[in-house]
Amino acid sequence: MVEKQGIAASPGVAIAEALVLDSREFPISHRKLNEAEVPAERERFARSVRDAIAEVQALQKQAAEKAGGEYLRIFDAHVSMLRDPELGREITEMIQSTRCTAEFAVSSVIKKHARVFLAADFLKDRVRDLYDIEHAIHRHLQGLKREDLGHLESNVIIVAHDLTPSQTVTLDKAKVVALATDAGGRTSHTAIIARALSIPAVVGLGALTADVVAGDLLVVDGTAGQVVVNPDPRTLDRYQAKARNLHEHEVRLARIRQLPAETTDGHRVHLYANIESPDEIAIALDRGAEGVGLYRTEFLFFEKGSPPTEEEHFAAYRHVAQALGGRPLIIRTFDMGGDKLEPSGAAPEKNPFLGCRSIRLCFQRMDLFRTQLRAILRASDGAAVSILFPMITDLHEIRLAKRIVHETMAELDNEGVPYDRHVRIGIMIEVPSAAWIADLLAKEVDFFSIGTNDLVQYTLAVDRGNQCVSALYQPAHPAVLRLIRDVIECGRRTGVPVAMCGEMSGELLYAILLVGLGLVEFSVSPAVLPQIKELIRSVSYDHARQVAARALAFEDPERTIQYLKEVTARALPDET
Ligand code: PEP
Ligand code: MG
Repeated sequence: MVEKQGIAASPGVAIAEALVLDSREFPISHRKLNEAEVPAERERFARSVRDAIAEVQALQKQAAEKAGGEYLRIFDAHVSMLRDPELGREITEMIQSTRCTAEFAVSSVIKKHARVFLAADFLKDRVRDLYDIEHAIHRHLQGLKREDLGHLESNVIIVAHDLTPSQTVTLDKAKVVALATDAGGRTSHTAIIARALSIPAVVGLGALTADVVAGDLLVVDGTAGQVVVNPDPRTLDRYQAKARNLHEHEVRLARIRQLPAETTDGHRVHLYANIESPDEIAIALDRGAEGVGLYRTEFLFFEKGSPPTEEEHFAAYRHVAQALGGRPLIIRTFDMGGDKLEPSGAAPEKNPFLGCRSIRLCFQRMDLFRTQLRAILRASDGAAVSILFPMITDLHEIRLAKRIVHETMAELDNEGVPYDRHVRIGIMIEVPSAAWIADLLAKEVDFFSIGTNDLVQYTLAVDRGNQCVSALYQPAHPAVLRLIRDVIECGRRTGVPVAMCGEMSGELLYAILLVGLGLVEFSVSPAVLPQIKELIRSVSYDHARQVAARALAFEDPERTIQYLKEVTARALPDET
């Protein structure tokens, strides 16, 4: 038995035999061609590209039928890379000038581009796409067929170094019960698609492929980020019980899906979903989301590797708005910088979290900002779309952001393009300065959304992504709790609705406290939404208020956490 810890990428437990995908290395001939062979070699390359494009387009069609058209952007990216005239020209010129084989030229040129992508932090994920198209061209050069993952005989867990997007999308969902990969992170394609398909996944496992052969029995615990290879009978029993419990829990949660998120004494709370990609909207609705409280649009840039066009923005927003059918959709303008995507071409910053990130970057890149605002406004026509600005620290910033919105509206008016004139404008409260002047900011906006991920980091001066100081990252710190209490209170006084979209709102531990503080809008990851609802439905508002008063009286965050654990365990005795 081998146990491995990786990154929990998609929750749930699955037990099945492994199917190890071979990450085949294609033989590459170093032969020097005769002058006379060169034209035929160039044509062989051109043909393989045409065939690869046709194959990707066929896959795209298949994926659209299977998964509702959500992954099409991955394939669009492949097609545009395959069609990239620059890439094609470089490869052809190399064949011409060095008389190398097409295989050699394809690998050399693609590796060179991959190095450039790897050097630019925000393009790292695009490297998988490059290798995917390299694989496809090689396969066509050598007349080989792609692995058919669409028709599998029995249930399997896919094990791979890192699934390519096209492999992931063609998976036979009825048979593939989990994914486990050596590489990848929570935002890798594998993770995103596994979550969208609702199958457990663990990524970033290191050298799992070296420890597994086809037919090994595997356990994938996508909730805990663990994989067990050939579990002993006791371990297998334990995971089978866990899988059963999770299943029974899911069935219980499904029963309350259509019920309101309200306390036992009728205090109503609203549960919205955080999404990073349009792919997630179907799952969010399935999990009972009443709308989208945070659409992190920076992932559009991330997925594409370059700024989206207005039409690409618009298509994504329109798709989500249509799927929501009139339910609220809060679109946050791009929040890059910090730990999310280096602004392309900009010099590296010493303190990226305190540097040109988020709204500051929007103001520096007005071209990108205006393009996005045009698309959001266009998507607001006939839909309940709101605009959310991240990382506002003072009045000047929100006034400037609003001015740009108004200028964009005037532009659309001139062009006769429809949009919602009453589109709501809100800001993230994720910097202590904003929390402190919430009363002033309230005069400028229609709503607040508390971003605890950053609010904790900036209040406590703790980098949210630094392992070394992770113990100091404490949402239960009295300074954080007081800021949250005061912002909610300010919202009540000024009539500005307050939501919370940081991870804290999706943690069971804090749900009763937040309800007790008067928070009525929670925006959480779809995966945790039903559990939060279950918890809220199990307590009274009166009790939640008492819990909040008590929790805020503790001086020591550890004591607060202990207390909240006890309170949560009493509310949900079966699940905590
Ligand atoms: C936050 O800071 O809490 C938040 C929701 O924004 P992000 O995690 O995208 O920075
Ligand atoms: Mg933030």
